[in-house]
Amino acid sequence: MKTALITGITGQDGFYLTEHLLALGYQVHGLVRQTGLEHVKNTLLRDIPPEAHSHLHLHAISLDNFPGIYRLFSATHFNECYHLAASSFVGERLADGLQTIQNNISSTQYLLTALSEFQPACRLYFAGSSEMFGRPESSPQDESTPLMPRNAYGISKVAGFHLMRCYREAHNLFCTTGILYNHESPRRRPEFVPRKITLAAARIARGDTRKLELGNLDAQRDWGYAPDYVRAMHMMLTHAQPDDYVVATGKLHSVRDLCEIAFSHVGLSWQDHVQVNPQFIREEPATQLVGNPSKIESTLGWHRTRSFPDMIQEMVEADLSTLR
Ligand code: GDP
Repeated sequence: MKTALITGITGQDGFYLTEHLLALGYQVHGLVRQTGLEHVKNTLLRDIPPEAHSHLHLHAISLDNFPGIYRLFSATHFNECYHLAASSFVGERLADGLQTIQNNISSTQYLLTALSEFQPACRLYFAGSSEMFGRPESSPQDESTPLMPRNAYGISKVAGFHLMRCYREAHNLFCTTGILYNHESPRRRPEFVPRKITLAAARIARGDTRKLELGNLDAQRDWGYAPDYVRAMHMMLTHAQPDDYVVATGKLHSVRDLCEIAFSHVGLSWQDHVQVNPQFIREEPATQLVGNPSKIESTLGWHRTRSFPDMIQEMVEADLSTLR
């Protein structure tokens, strides 16, 4: 029986990864902050089959608790570690993001040192991001596209990516980075535009509200389905060789497309409900962030299972059912 450790187990990806690994028969350990441990336990356990509860183990150790991480690695044997946790300040002012850079780099470094000290055979996955490309010069991006991050979050992810590469090359650890593009699901936080739209479409359909305010409707993203992306993480860690992979759909859709699919699913016309509020308009890069998933498709045989419209419709349905 394999044992995995997940940092960031309380997030969207942490949940789907936990579900995936438990279904494969893993023992799953998760790091959570001391505050709210009981709440986290209850929320996670609510959606996990009762027979798997005894296979899930939560540890109240925050990622800046270096001795705590060391103690955990010296006491428990892990086959795989998924480092998903990160502070995610993506604002433009770099000075405001100092804490993000520091936290994200030091937590990745803590894990790598603990791993190389106590469990050099444990395989480590690092959650990279399309933010590492920042304002790319070419499109679509792949594993050879230059990394040009433009915010604190992107810089911290590039640093983590290089730390992983160095430990792989210099210490022979099995370290991989997944460069993941946006991925969504019914568990996505409503601050992100797909969930903001599906939740609003569901609320408007129920008559709870009438309007939805958005920013740039022409903004485009490469939006994938979160459960597909956690499968990719596991495939990367169980492959014969450690390597880095772009995980993306290779397709761009606009915020307008998203509105069209979500609202028409509930029999409404988005034009009757959506208003543009300049407060939500952001500067968009000239070159689009869209990934080329050829490497992971040909090397690991990964393929996505959901089309963009199917994913959005699933999210609207989930929101309708929660609101009911
Ligand atoms: P991220 O910017 O890739 O982290 O993901 P978001 O879901 O926050 O935004 C995706 C795109 O939707 C960006 O280009 C935003 O400018 C655009 N967008 C348009 N209206 C909104 C809005 O009301 N909220 C958010 N979050 N994004 C919006």
